[in-house]
Amino acid sequence: MELDEKRIQQIVDRVVSRLGIQPPGPSQPTSGAGAAPAVHRNPAAGPSAKGIPLLHPGAPQRGVRTGIPRGSLGVFPTVDAAARAARQAFEELDKRPLELRYKVVAAMREVTLRHVRELSEYAVAETGLGRVEDKVRKNTLAAEKTPGPEILKPKAFTGDRGLTLIEWAPYGVIGSITPCTNPTETIVCNGIGFVAGGNTAVFNVHPLAKAVSAYHIHLLNEAAMGVGAPANLLTTVAEPTIASAQELMKHPTTRILVVTGGPAVVNAAMNSGKKVVAAGPGNPPVVVDETADIKRAARGIVAGASFDNNLICCDEKEVFAAGAIFDQLRKELKAAGAHELSEPQMSRLTRNIIDPDGKHPNKDFVGKNVSVILDSIGIRVGDDVRLAFGVVEEKHPLVTVEQLLPVIPLVRAKDAGEAIEMALRAEQGMGHTASIYSRNIDNMHHMARLMDTCIFVKNGPNYVGLGGDGEGFTSWTIAHPTGEGLSCAIHFVRTRRCALQDYFRIV
Ligand code: NAD
Repeated sequence: MELDEKRIQQIVDRVVSRLGIQPPGPSQPTSGAGAAPAVHRNPAAGPSAKGIPLLHPGAPQRGVRTGIPRGSLGVFPTVDAAARAARQAFEELDKRPLELRYKVVAAMREVTLRHVRELSEYAVAETGLGRVEDKVRKNTLAAEKTPGPEILKPKAFTGDRGLTLIEWAPYGVIGSITPCTNPTETIVCNGIGFVAGGNTAVFNVHPLAKAVSAYHIHLLNEAAMGVGAPANLLTTVAEPTIASAQELMKHPTTRILVVTGGPAVVNAAMNSGKKVVAAGPGNPPVVVDETADIKRAARGIVAGASFDNNLICCDEKEVFAAGAIFDQLRKELKAAGAHELSEPQMSRLTRNIIDPDGKHPNKDFVGKNVSVILDSIGIRVGDDVRLAFGVVEEKHPLVTVEQLLPVIPLVRAKDAGEAIEMALRAEQGMGHTASIYSRNIDNMHHMARLMDTCIFVKNGPNYVGLGGDGEGFTSWTIAHPTGEGLSCAIHFVRTRRCALQDYFRIV
């Protein structure tokens, strides 16, 4: 008899739950770096909410193939069950003091940081995308610098005619759709922002990252419950699909949608008839002008464009350099560790990494290491090489396509003015992210205004605009189509006003 993976998992689950043990998966170390915690205490073993079935009551068990512990807290078999549980959790949370939100957010940060390496390893193992070390940096940034409830300052207006108070109220249950490129970063970032505003959420995570996402949601719920929160602040469906995402968008319980992904999910959410915070694709251009510190520019481009193998929507995707410094930039890019490809090599590689339609990257190479990508045209480099580049014309598909892999095109422009014009065309009006290396204040000012992007970075890698190695809070849902920019708790709340006539002005 042939047994498929699902059936094997069911049998293992049944045996494991009868024996009350938690077996490591075949690829899972039991100690040392990357080992999963041996025991997960489950403060809410058994049904999470009356009449709402949990998928795996009890401690998380490991998937047979990936070794990723299977989340149980907050994980439900259907969208409807997840939504009902999140609604029940919201009604509970709404009765609790504000102080609880601070505690829950602190606990979510702490548990993510405590499991940061494990989550990063699992994300790479499950999706096959990105680099573990970079995901550790991304998750750390998300856990540490996503704003909590402190960002929600009430407003007061006082005068001769009294006092008006404006406060921030939760929406209730938020429907959140998350990408495979930053799976856990988006979950902790959204999770903190939602709960900071007093909301609960149903996540429809990317199918390619469903195990690590469910496990992270489990950890976040466990941490929240550990400081006194109700169960199921964050819920998800065990088997997310595009159909379940669409069901979530239409579900009567979700009052607002927060979606992070490519054009299809953004369009679907914007046609849902609900309020949407939508974070879509980008194609961030970099300009290097005649006045730039070229060494700094090269180091910044290599660091930014290679960050998590260029999976991040705001990572540098193409470079336009002024003619006067063009050759120097090529030299410095190589000195900074990038591998230069000749024109014929670029042509051959482009046929592999861009789909024949010239509009999409080849999924087989998205998020892969340079060594894997170059191997496809017979070039061998070590895994320490983080970025490859080649000189191309402006119309080249690597300039126009959001490639999401660590090979970037370098285009020669006449001067700064032409480079900025090219950058504007390459960004295609998405309004996502752009950057410049320059010491000319007029060029910086001109490009910043012209690009009209949510994030504009000067003289540093684009992740500086996410608050990484830079100032300001972070977000992993950069909502350029709907205008919130780096979205956070203030975009997940409604305002409510309370007015008192003639009293309470104290001066
Ligand atoms: P994706 O669009 O394939 O998937 C994102 C999510 O949307 C997944 O959960 C998927 O299941 C769901 N989905 C996809 N099509 C759908 C549809 N028609 N209806 C309902 N749900 C649908 O994206 P991805 O590959 O996971 O992520 C990469 C893309 O997301 C890139 O374009 C990147 O720029 C973008 N992104 C943007 C941001 C941002 O903050 N602006 C952040 C991360 C990723």
